[in-house]
This record gives sequence, structure tokens and C-alpha cells, in this order.
Amino acid sequence: MEPAAPVTWQNGSAGSLKGMASPYQVRVFGDPVLRKVAKEIEDVDGKLVKLVDDMLDTMYAEPGIGLAAPQVGVGRRLFVYDVGEGPEAIVNPVISEARGEWVYEEGCLSVPGLYWEIVRPKEIHLTGHDLDGNEVSIEADELLARLFQHELDHLDGVMLIDHLDDDTRKAAMRTLRATFIDGAEAGGQASSGSKKLTLP
Ligand SMILES: [Zn+2]
Repeated sequence: MEPAAPVTWQNGSAGSLKGMASPYQVRVFGDPVLRKVAKEIEDVDGKLVKLVDDMLDTMYAEPGIGLAAPQVGVGRRLFVYDVGEGPEAIVNPVISEARGEWVYEEGCLSVPGLYWEIVRPKEIHLTGHDLDGNEVSIEADELLARLFQHELDHLDGVMLIDHLDDDTRKAAMRTLRATFIDGAEAGGQASSGSKKLTLP
């Protein structure tokens, strides 16, 4: 597995925890948990709070700016993020509105080192709950909207390659199989041909 690139759209807020031991290994392409639809969370209990803490530590250690529960092997509808304004966790998130279009070169901690230009809505409205059970309602634009859509995808078993056109997806699948399934020795062949980064 390639090391995390120094900059990806998921990077950018390494925080003070960078370098500390990560409680979880982030699951990568080929792990079936990434393809399952995660289940609604019914109770926020001590176990869930601990999960959120461990997910945040894992996210900062990568480093990343977002991480969904399936990425640490937990099939629950939960993600954490920090876009530089402190750690947040959203339970049972829902995107209720989407507007506009925005192209962004997007990467994923579960397909480290690979990036694709992906078009998604530019603005979205996200609702859900925080760990205190309060309702959360966020109007998000550009990077934050992108992050929310990316994490929501993980809760529905959707990965970046699902957003590519047929030809690009076929090429990406060959790279992914070589990199993550046929073994690390093939990793040297990995190239998306699109590694320019456009972090705002
Ligand atoms: Zn991801």
C-alpha cells in the first residue's frame, strides 16, 4: 500500500495528534465492508462515543479530514470530520437537498494514492444528529459539501470509482486490482494518470 500522499482532499488538518498510534487500520479497496450499506444507529451509548474517539484518532493519524465508520470496519451510519474547525461526528446523516455542480479531484483513504476528477453537486443540505442527540442541520458548499457526499457514499457502500464513466472506471479497476488485490508488488504500476491536487 502506498503511503498517504502529503496532500489530498482528505488531508489538510493533521492536527496535534499526527504521528500517534492509530487505533484502527483504515480498510482499503477490496474489503467487503466498504461495499455494504451501513445500518442506522439507534442508541448513542458509551461504546459509540469510544468508536467516535477512535475514528477521530485514526483520521488524524492518516491524516485525513473525514472518515466513515465502514472504513474502520463498522457498518453503522456515522462519520467524523474536521475541516480545521475542530472534530465533529454526525450520526445517521441524510442529504436532503443538492444544488449546482462542482468538479474536484477527489481521493479516499480507502484507495490511498489515487485521485479522480469527479463531478458532484456543489451545495448540499445535511441533517443528522450529534453525539448529544441534538439535531444537526448544515448548509455545506464546495469542499465541505464534497466531504459530506463522500462520507455518505461510504455509508451506502459506494466508492469513488462508481462515479467514473465506463472507460475511466475500467482503467481504474485494473489499477485497483493490481494495487490492492493482486498484492503490493504490483503497486509500482499504480497510476491514475491524474495525480494533480487541487486542495483549496
Ligand atoms: Zn473515502
